[in-house]
Amino acid sequence: MAEHGHPPRHHYDASMLSVEEALERILGYMHVLEAEEKPILDAMEQVLVDDVVAARDIPPLDNSAMDGYALQAASVEDASEDHPVVLKVTGVVAAGELPDVRVGPGEAVRIMTGAPVPEGADTVIPFEETDELERRDSGLNLSEIAVKVAVDIGRDVRPAGQDARRGERVLERGSILRPSEVGVLAALGHSTVSVVRRPVVAILSTGDELLEPGDPYGVGGIYDSNSYSVAALVRRYGGIPNMLGIARDNLDSVNAKLREGLQSDILITSAGVSKGDYDMVKDVLTQHGEIDFWSVRMKPAKPLAFGVLTAQDGRQVPHLGLPGNPVSAMVAFEQFGRAAIYKMLGRTGYQKPRVQAILDEPIHNTDGRRVFARAVVTKEDGIYRARLTGAQGSNLLTSMARANGLAICPEDLSRKEAGEVVDVQMLDWPEEVF
Ligand code: AMP
Ligand code: MG
Repeated sequence: MAEHGHPPRHHYDASMLSVEEALERILGYMHVLEAEEKPILDAMEQVLVDDVVAARDIPPLDNSAMDGYALQAASVEDASEDHPVVLKVTGVVAAGELPDVRVGPGEAVRIMTGAPVPEGADTVIPFEETDELERRDSGLNLSEIAVKVAVDIGRDVRPAGQDARRGERVLERGSILRPSEVGVLAALGHSTVSVVRRPVVAILSTGDELLEPGDPYGVGGIYDSNSYSVAALVRRYGGIPNMLGIARDNLDSVNAKLREGLQSDILITSAGVSKGDYDMVKDVLTQHGEIDFWSVRMKPAKPLAFGVLTAQDGRQVPHLGLPGNPVSAMVAFEQFGRAAIYKMLGRTGYQKPRVQAILDEPIHNTDGRRVFARAVVTKEDGIYRARLTGAQGSNLLTSMARANGLAICPEDLSRKEAGEVVDVQMLDWPEEVF
């Protein structure tokens, strides 16, 4: 039904799953993996298993924010340019030392940044606000110091516990370790941390035509790109790829590779899921467990397989079967594989970052599927714009390399017009898009 001014709307094909339905089914089978204890630096991007509580105050003691003199603010309350107050310097304390002097009225202790403030002192005054330099220049000793300004009490003293109080929860379980969390753990004295371990992802390509990159070219051959693009995505999203290589289109070959793959946390295959040839893969996979072949209401990457296989030791291993066409494999991985890995990693947000952009040219939707069009997003005068990368065939892998995002035409629209606002799922955040 065409509404005035709008393109006609598509009706859903009920035999197909929406992207969300497929994702929900897949995630229903994924579990958060166990914890592992790791050196803090190696745990980057992993998810904290426990709350982290400060075992002591940070900073542990009141300390100086400046190189200067620790004193009592009251000692210099009458100080001025014309009437400097002269204080007796009774000691010196550096970072890492504990002060052994008490500061009384009319006294000062020379102090370095980070050094504990001696007892009795309530304030630090920086060198520059004393006559220290003049004294040095004229060869005077530094047993006394003149202060020419009054200071507010507490100035340049960093109180103990200001950053974190003993017993305070400073990091929350479930949070992702970024450089600042790694720093906080170190500041608390931790060298290791308990995080959800990374999933090992077995990756298998299937097809008689496939060649291993690096091998000599043979006529009719297609180099296996899916294993590598998918492994690269697995790595980007925090998994550990276990490259099984290529299985040929026969039972024995797929079976042999599968046995190896079932030692991983998830098996991801590509190809053999489209109508023409999935019988063979289906035969093999059903020997190892339950497998469903889905049509997902998306373009590219309509055919998708998902199931749960049983390893020889009885362990259940989820299997995601991506389409064979190189762009389809990557786009399907971005929607489903990435979320599966994130769930195993204990992460909770599964959405790719999105921007709203003005579309420079139309996206056509011929058959009521959600179109993920390869696009280049730029930012001009603060506004995102998206142009397509040209022909959108699901075999055109170089167009994926040119894109930084996937511009989405919803399944119920027959086209998104030029000039309309479009949702773009960002694949990357290149500098020109910030
Ligand atoms: P299939 O699902 O086996 O019909 O494969 C669909 C298309 O994807 C065919 O053109 C295959 O040659 C191609 N293809 C399948 N697997 C790969 C792979 N690992 N790398 C590159 N292209 C592939
Ligand atoms: Mg094939």
